[in-house]
Amino acid sequence: MIRIGIMGYGNLGRGIECAIKQNDDLELVAVFTRRDPATVSILTEGAAVCNVKDVEDWKDKIDVLMLCGGSATDLPVQTPEYAKLFNVVDSFDTHARIPEHFANVDKAAKENEHIGIISVGWDPGMFSLNRMYANAILPEGKDYTFWGKGVSQGHSDAIRRVEGVKDGKQYTIPVEAALEAVRNGEDPELTTRQKHTRECFVVLEEGADAKKVEEEIKTMPNYFSDYDTTVHFISQEELDRDHSKIPHGGFVLRSGCTGWEKENKHIIEYSLKLDSNPEFTSSVLVAYARAAYKLSKEGQSGCKTVFDIAPAYLSAKSGEELRASLL
Ligand code: NAP
Repeated sequence: MIRIGIMGYGNLGRGIECAIKQNDDLELVAVFTRRDPATVSILTEGAAVCNVKDVEDWKDKIDVLMLCGGSATDLPVQTPEYAKLFNVVDSFDTHARIPEHFANVDKAAKENEHIGIISVGWDPGMFSLNRMYANAILPEGKDYTFWGKGVSQGHSDAIRRVEGVKDGKQYTIPVEAALEAVRNGEDPELTTRQKHTRECFVVLEEGADAKKVEEEIKTMPNYFSDYDTTVHFISQEELDRDHSKIPHGGFVLRSGCTGWEKENKHIIEYSLKLDSNPEFTSSVLVAYARAAYKLSKEGQSGCKTVFDIAPAYLSAKSGEELRASLL
């Protein structure tokens, strides 16, 4: 059994707990939280709920610690810190800061002979892997990534900060015509506006000015001004009833060509349609926890990303079983 700890019990923390239930070789031993453990109830019988300050006591009782804090401020601090004590896996998704995060985790993990696998999930994660495979196979070509339809947590937070907004959810939606043009091998040059639209469902505060709120959302720099945005005003009951899930997904495509005169066209497409972004992300994270465990047992250390890990390390099956059943 691979003994797993969860650091931070939000959406991903709960998702990891559910994913462990579907993997017979993994066992949840403890959940750590910054909150009062008495206020956090988990589903797994027999697993402990502890305050983060006690985590060092678990040094020899946990094989891999899953870091489920937020990418903005938690993970840049937590992952290097806990890589000193444990093998760790995180889902750090601030793409621009991955090189810096890698360097920090690599140093801590190497000095303490642990494995730290960072930026695991779907993007970064499975989408990154598919971009990389497609680029390696078709060096002549163009990459396209479309996100959605799905909830963007960052954009939902942004609309909730607008004056007069009580609650809200934002969906990112790929433009079907752009997707079709890529699939048809037309290799279009696409602007931000041509690739995605944004749809907002907003609950207004009592007496708020709907026109003003809509204008403020649609013109918000960085978040909405570069997109065609639709705003729907609905009641809190409708928001709770129809928009409580956290779906997401998207498409990674590479359009490339081969042949002496580049006469043959190839389209590679990988797509995800997820009912629950955090539960899917967590399912990827636990597969990589297995890889972290195996690499550590082999005596390896340092920081890794999805690019560095051979696929067989993710599976609970032996090489023999994999060759017989999936190759
Ligand atoms: P979240 O639900 O906001 O949880 C983040 C942390 O907030 C938790 O670890 C928890 O820490 C604390 N928290 C959660 N619920 C709380 C509550 N009711 N009261 C007080 N504190 C609470 O975030 P998430 O949805 O799990 O996502 C975490 C990160 O995963 C995101 O920042 C994102 O960057 C990343 N992510 C990556 C991918 C990918 O594809 N790579 C996909 C999805 C998400 P404590 O238990 O210590 O309080």
